[in-house]
Amino acid sequence: MSSAGFDYDLFVIGAGSGGTRAARIAAGHGARVAVAEERFFGGTCVNIGCVPKKLMVMAADFAHAFEDARGFGWSVGERRHDWASLIANKDREIARLNGIYRDLLKNAGCTVFEARATILDPHTVLVGGERVRARVILVAAGGRPVRPDIEGAGHGIVSDDAFYLKARPRHVLVVGGGYIAVEFAGIFAGLGAAVTQLYRGTLFLRGFDDDIRTHLAEEMRASGIDLRFGSDVTRIEKRADGMLCAHLLGGATIDTDCVFFATGRVPNTAGLGLEAAGVRLDEKGAVIVDADQRSSVPSIYAVGDVTDQLNLTPIALAEGHALADTLFGGRPRRTSHENVATAIFSPPPAATVGFAEAEAAEQFGAVDVYVTRFKPMRHTLSGRARRSMMKLVVDQASQRVVGAHMVGEDAGEIMQGLAIAVNMGASKADFDRTIGIHPTAAEEFVTLRTRTRETRRVAAAAQ
Ligand code: NDP
Repeated sequence: MSSAGFDYDLFVIGAGSGGTRAARIAAGHGARVAVAEERFFGGTCVNIGCVPKKLMVMAADFAHAFEDARGFGWSVGERRHDWASLIANKDREIARLNGIYRDLLKNAGCTVFEARATILDPHTVLVGGERVRARVILVAAGGRPVRPDIEGAGHGIVSDDAFYLKARPRHVLVVGGGYIAVEFAGIFAGLGAAVTQLYRGTLFLRGFDDDIRTHLAEEMRASGIDLRFGSDVTRIEKRADGMLCAHLLGGATIDTDCVFFATGRVPNTAGLGLEAAGVRLDEKGAVIVDADQRSSVPSIYAVGDVTDQLNLTPIALAEGHALADTLFGGRPRRTSHENVATAIFSPPPAATVGFAEAEAAEQFGAVDVYVTRFKPMRHTLSGRARRSMMKLVVDQASQRVVGAHMVGEDAGEIMQGLAIAVNMGASKADFDRTIGIHPTAAEEFVTLRTRTRETRRVAAAAQ
C-alpha cells in the first residue's frame, strides 16, 4: 500500500511497552510515526505495574533481611518503615522513567500527541481534535484492573490505587489468587500490615504447576499471611468510623481498613471506535488478532495486553518489535508464545518456564519428574523456616526438558538462564553434564539425579 495520502505510515495508540517499542523501531526503519498517549508514557509496566511493584517488593524484602541478619551475628536495632518516603522515592524514579519513555519517542523522530486518540475508520484517527490519516494503525492501549460486581466494591482498591496509598493500611484483605494478589499480599505483609488473602478456588495461581502452587501456599502461610482458599467476598460495608466490613461466603465477616481487589484485568478498548471501524473484539473486549498481530481490519493491528493473550511486558515488547520489523523493516517475523519464562514476585518468588507437570503429561503422554525441596543455605543460620522447591519435567520419549519450575530466592533470576536451555531443546542429559556453580541454589537444577515420579496422561494412566 502506498504512503501517498497518509499523514503517517504508522499511528500508535498507547505509549506503553508494546506501543513505544513498535513506534521506535518503525521510525528507525524510516517510517513516519505518530504516537498518542493520554496518561502515562511507559504504560502500565513503568507507572503502575512491574517497575514500581518490584521496587515495593524490594522494600518488603528488607523486613526479612533484618530478621535473617541476627543469625549471622548482626545486632539489628530499631526498625521502622516510612511508607510515605517509599512512595515519594518510587514516584521520583517513575517520573524519571516516564520522561525517558517520552524522550525515546521524540528522539526516534516520532510525533507525540499527549491526548486520547479514537479510531474513526480503518485509516483515520481523531486525536486532540485533529483528524489524522495513517496507513497502519496500531492499538497498544493495554488493560486495566476490574473490581468484581458486588455491593460495596467501590470501597475497595485495585492495583492502580495501591501504588499511591497515603499510608500503609494496618490490615489488608486481598481478594484474588493471580500474580497481582500474591505479589501485593507479600508487599503489604513485608511492610508490616496484617494480610488476609482470599481465593475463591481450591488452590491459587490457576494454570501454574501444582508443585509451585502448593509450595508457595505453604511458604506464604509460614511467612504470616492468612491465606484462605474456597473463600470470597460477597459484600463490603463501610462503617461510620471509616473501617470496612467485608462479608464473606458462608456468612463470616472481616473488619479491615483496606480491601484490595486483584481480580483480573480487562483490555482498554471501550470507546476507542474499534467496533465501528469493523475490528472484531472477543467477549472480554480484547482485539482479536492473527499470528501477525493483524485484526479483522487489514490496516489495524494490536499488540500487548489489549489482545489479552499473554499479558506480560516482554511479550508486548517482542510483539511490537516484530510488527515494526515486519511492516517497515522488510524482515517479516512473529512472536512465539511458547516457553515464555515468567516470575511471580511473591514471598518467596516463584518462576517457571515451559509445561506444568499435568499439562506436559497430557501433551507428551508420559513425563519423568524430578523434584527437590531443601532448606536454602541462608536459612541454616537465619533460623527462618523457609524451604525452596525446584522441579524439572522431562518428556520421557525424547528426554527433553519441557518444564522447569522453582519457588525460592532468586527464582526469576535463575529461570531466565534455564529458559534459554529449554527453548534450545536441552535434554536431561545436557542438564546433567553441566557442572554446577557451588554453593548456589541454582546448581540443584543440574544435580537432580533421581527421578521423583513418572506421570502419565490421565486417559492413558486409567487404561
Ligand atoms: P489474573 O487473571 O492472573 O488473576 C485474577 C484472579 O482473581 C484469579 O485468581 C481469579 O480467580 C480471581 N478472580 C477473578 N474474578 C473474580 C471475582 N469476581 N471474584 C473473586 N475472584 C476473582 O489477574 P491479575 O490481576 O493477578 O493479573 C493480570 C495479569 O497481569 C496476569 O495474568 C499477568 O499476565 C499480568 N501480571 C504479570 C506479573 C508478572 O509477570 N510478575 C505481575 C502482575 C501481573 P480464578 O482463578 O478462579 O479465575
